[in-house]
Amino acid sequence: MAHERLIVPIFIPHEGCPYRCVFCDQRDITGVRAKADREAVEKALHAYLRSGSPLPAYREAAFYGGSFTGLSQARQEFLLSLVQPWIDSGELHAVRLSTHPLFIDDEKLDLLKHYRVETVELGVQSTDPGVLDLSGRPCLLDEIRLAAESVKRKRFNLGLQLMPGLPGDNEETFRKSADDVVRMRPQFVRLYPTLVIRGTALHRMYLERKFVPWDLESMVERLKYAVLKFNGAGIQVARVGLPPDPSLLENLVAGPFHPALRYLVESRICLDWMAAQLKARTGGAGSAIFKVPSKYVSNYTGHKRENVGKLKAMFRLEDVKFVADESLISPALVC
Ligand code: SF4
Repeated sequence: MAHERLIVPIFIPHEGCPYRCVFCDQRDITGVRAKADREAVEKALHAYLRSGSPLPAYREAAFYGGSFTGLSQARQEFLLSLVQPWIDSGELHAVRLSTHPLFIDDEKLDLLKHYRVETVELGVQSTDPGVLDLSGRPCLLDEIRLAAESVKRKRFNLGLQLMPGLPGDNEETFRKSADDVVRMRPQFVRLYPTLVIRGTALHRMYLERKFVPWDLESMVERLKYAVLKFNGAGIQVARVGLPPDPSLLENLVAGPFHPALRYLVESRICLDWMAAQLKARTGGAGSAIFKVPSKYVSNYTGHKRENVGKLKAMFRLEDVKFVADESLISPALVC
């Protein structure tokens, strides 16, 4: 079955960006080295939209990998104008892009509006001044807030990205970043754990023992806090973790990479919920049965039934069973 929304990614690695964030080498993350020209953009659009496969109802072109609004106006207009005929023909519906909060003002946003951009994603990464400073991002929380406000005031969909585990980041600073993002009320967030990529400044810091990435267990626990916060505030979590692209895997040196990080976080949330239910139940039956929504059964059982093993050990249970129910929205402990 086709997904509801198709995003055609057009990479503009590092374009428009005068900065050097310590973690960034967009060319290695995206695997794209050439500057996007007419041919490259057309090629991407053809590959995604005219492949002959059934297409989702809503289709967008996305300029990712650089600071789009940091580009010269001429370059922005050139790139945006390439996708306009595809919108006119109905093959695309809108445009989305990512950029740096320091490159947002009303004039830039008006230009984007003119070219039918609907969604603007801002790289926040952290709201802690110390973390941002150590990460080579000269940006203040007030400037991030102002940019987020402007994007919403001009009626774009706002997306915010966070990178847990940057230099100087810890559980407390990351929680504060997540709380600050909730207060900015974006439509969605993306959570990208900090990884050490070959050739970046962070790689040097890692080799010189000036940076230690978070381990996978800490990352999962801390992401759990953020995901629960965003879920509770009705903010969509569009992504947790980087996709396992060959270019990323080739250049990954260290850090809490996992191809199914979101699943690990969600199944940990389910484990906590089940443990709380069992703790609160009266009577000490030797088994437990949970009724769970069909499509989330594996989130409850956990990777390789890890949650089952943990619950058995925590509550001295002989058996933990799951009844899948398609009509169910919320889970329940049956007995
Ligand atoms: S602002 Fe974005 S593109 Fe520029 S160095 Fe930082 S992460 Fe890379």
